[in-house]
Amino acid sequence: MKNKPINLSSLRGKIVAIDGPAGSGKSTTSKLIAARLGYTYLDTGAMYRALTYYALKNNIPFSDGVKLSKLAQILPILFKTSADVNRVFLNGNDVTDEIRLPEVTKNASEVAAHKGVRLAMVKKQQDFGKEGSIVAEGRDTTTVVFPNADVKIYLNASVEQRAQRRLLDLMKMGVTTTLKELQDDIKKRDHKDTSREHSPLTKAKDAILVDTTSMTLEGQVDYIVNIIRSMLK
Ligand code: C5P
Repeated sequence: MKNKPINLSSLRGKIVAIDGPAGSGKSTTSKLIAARLGYTYLDTGAMYRALTYYALKNNIPFSDGVKLSKLAQILPILFKTSADVNRVFLNGNDVTDEIRLPEVTKNASEVAAHKGVRLAMVKKQQDFGKEGSIVAEGRDTTTVVFPNADVKIYLNASVEQRAQRRLLDLMKMGVTTTLKELQDDIKKRDHKDTSREHSPLTKAKDAILVDTTSMTLEGQVDYIVNIIRSMLK
């Protein structure tokens, strides 16, 4: 079944939305799925991270919803995908690596919880998706950003497995931390993301749940591409 040719005409202009908690493998999986379908990959978390990084650099308190909402409207955030790397530009500067730093990860949920920030980001995300042929990834993409997406996937994995994956990512970036610290971080982020007032993380009723705890990356990409193919044929 793997790598079967995809019927391109039935895929044109469609929207695939992928949601799920921190470390469920959303980013890597979505990027690979977009490449397999010939779609654009939209990393919505990177947008909240870019704003968080800007706040960090400019000493803007993460609690300042008014200022952050204004910035969310005016700060230009762009993506450039080359080969398998999705580069993120904020104000013309490449911030791809900086937005993955633990300091940004830790504070992005607080920044993303402001209503005005979310409204501005969702609008930008919907603009990115206007033409379709997009894999949009992030917490509220199946519920708020693209409620009418053609395919909705909700990825999940155990906290232990998610922390383990983060640890490997961070080790590659030369960041030292412990599994325990990452598990605690993930639990805290899950709690913040599911209990916040605006657009809490939740599985859309019509999203397909995929538990990736014991799947390899390649396995989960194949599995989801097969779901998409069967739904869009
Ligand atoms: O997915 P990622 O870990 O890059 O997202 C960073 C943070 O941005 C998340 O912890 C979440 O609080 C926020 N986020 C969000 N809505 C999205 C994507 C991310 O609130 N659609």
